[in-house]
Amino acid sequence: MMVALPAGQHFLRGEDGYEAARRATVWNGRVPPRYPDVIVQARDSEDVATALRYAGADGLRVTVCSGGRSWHANHLRDSGLLLDVGRLDHCAIDADRMTAVVGPGKEGSALAAELDSEGLFFPTGHCTGVALGGYLLQGGYGWNSRRLGPACESVLAVDVVTADGRHLHCDAEHHPDLYWAARGSGPGFCGVVTAFHLALHPRPAVCAAGLYVYPIEVLDEVFTWARRIGAKVDRRVEMQLVVSRTVPDIGLDQPAVVVVAPVFADTEDEAFKALALLDTCPVVTQALVRAPYVPKTLATLYEEVMSNCPAGYRYATDNMWSSASAADLLPGIRRAIDTMPPYPAQLQLVNWGAVPSRPDMAFSLEDDVFLTLYSSWQDPADDDKYADWARSNMVAMEPLASGTQLADENLGQRPARFAADTAMARLDSVRAAYDPHGRFQAWMGRL
Ligand SMILES: Cc1cc2nc3c(=O)[nH]c(=O)nc-3n(C[C@H](O)[C@H](O)[C@H](O)COP(=O)(O)OP(=O)(O)OC[C@H]3O[C@@H](n4cnc5c(N)ncnc54)[C@H](O)[C@@H]3O)c2cc1C
Repeated sequence: MMVALPAGQHFLRGEDGYEAARRATVWNGRVPPRYPDVIVQARDSEDVATALRYAGADGLRVTVCSGGRSWHANHLRDSGLLLDVGRLDHCAIDADRMTAVVGPGKEGSALAAELDSEGLFFPTGHCTGVALGGYLLQGGYGWNSRRLGPACESVLAVDVVTADGRHLHCDAEHHPDLYWAARGSGPGFCGVVTAFHLALHPRPAVCAAGLYVYPIEVLDEVFTWARRIGAKVDRRVEMQLVVSRTVPDIGLDQPAVVVVAPVFADTEDEAFKALALLDTCPVVTQALVRAPYVPKTLATLYEEVMSNCPAGYRYATDNMWSSASAADLLPGIRRAIDTMPPYPAQLQLVNWGAVPSRPDMAFSLEDDVFLTLYSSWQDPADDDKYADWARSNMVAMEPLASGTQLADENLGQRPARFAADTAMARLDSVRAAYDPHGRFQAWMGRL
């Protein structure tokens, strides 16, 4: 069967425009040397179906990308067809029903700004530019997610094009297995999502943050305290500990531990009270910065995160979920800090706190904290020096891990558990049912 690809929107390897189209799918400055046979830039779900029929007729395996924020460019593989759905960035908000229908290419930060002006909220990712496609499929640790759940918990339905080019609307009643898989399978989803139907939340009236900066000499005290109080931290507070070699944001030219905790609440009083626990660190009087309550807006929070995550840098990440104590974690944390690349590389410990019951969905593995290492550097000549820092330090800490979260996954270099065993078995059977010929590539590694 002859199937023609959409004219002017596909690039065969070697053709003019191919390399620009390939690079445009990767935000990381380090674009892996992996080359699909053909790249298709879809404009709508019909283009998606056409591309899938073409792939089927030619026996090509398929990868999909929305915003290209996958740190290790899961979607870039050698040979096959790469389907770029970033242009499917439509967005229709129904303020009365508190729902939205968004395309996978819609950037979370753009959605957040539109919702903000309507008094609405969605737990979008912490950086500008992160598209909803990959973000929602892998779970989505967004603003206020400790309270609202991973963003995929607020997905009501998905529109999917299957390997054989069928358009399916999937929710709890229709194709419930695909709906289940779309909430947490991440790069192992066996279809192309062309729209997400979202449940929206009321915008919290108050947004603020607590900020403390400690000299690295009190690292042990701060991490021990943070692990001890973790379970007591109000779920509206997203406490994280960030260690880097310098902290340019506050003009600090030395290694430090930053404790930063955004809070979303209904009143200033509630927010203030929720943050009060952060002032109980036993070494709080040694803090170089002690700001228990700083009013914020979502826009200023985005700006602050982005200043630590500059575009154009070369990144490598790895992470783990853990319930280990500070005493057990600290040797590995110290080892990672001792060998840490210069700023903006960082170690981040997020106080999450697993919730005993969530809806039944592929997202099925979480724990007290997640610890992530972000390596970043500018010069390609430094690849050998810095690219393995995150992975090798995670390997050393593996005995303390209960799994890895897919947002910052490095499965290609360090396969790890990212879902409960029963969920993995179900994912395999959903993939076999909806993609019997294995058209879609999956995770770059798994256990
Ligand atoms: C700077 C930065 C900040 C980040 N911040 C956060 C954060 O705060 N919280 C968080 O949870 N994560 C965060 N992430 C991780 C991010 O959410 C994931 O990497 C996510 O996959 C990015 O979405 P994307 O659409 O850009 O992914 P892409 O790189 O485009 O895709 C990743 C994978 O998702 C699958 N996929 C994507 N779109 C589709 C689709 N439409 N249909 C089927 N499969 C698809 C594919 O398998 C693809 O390989 C961040 C990443 C970066 C680079």
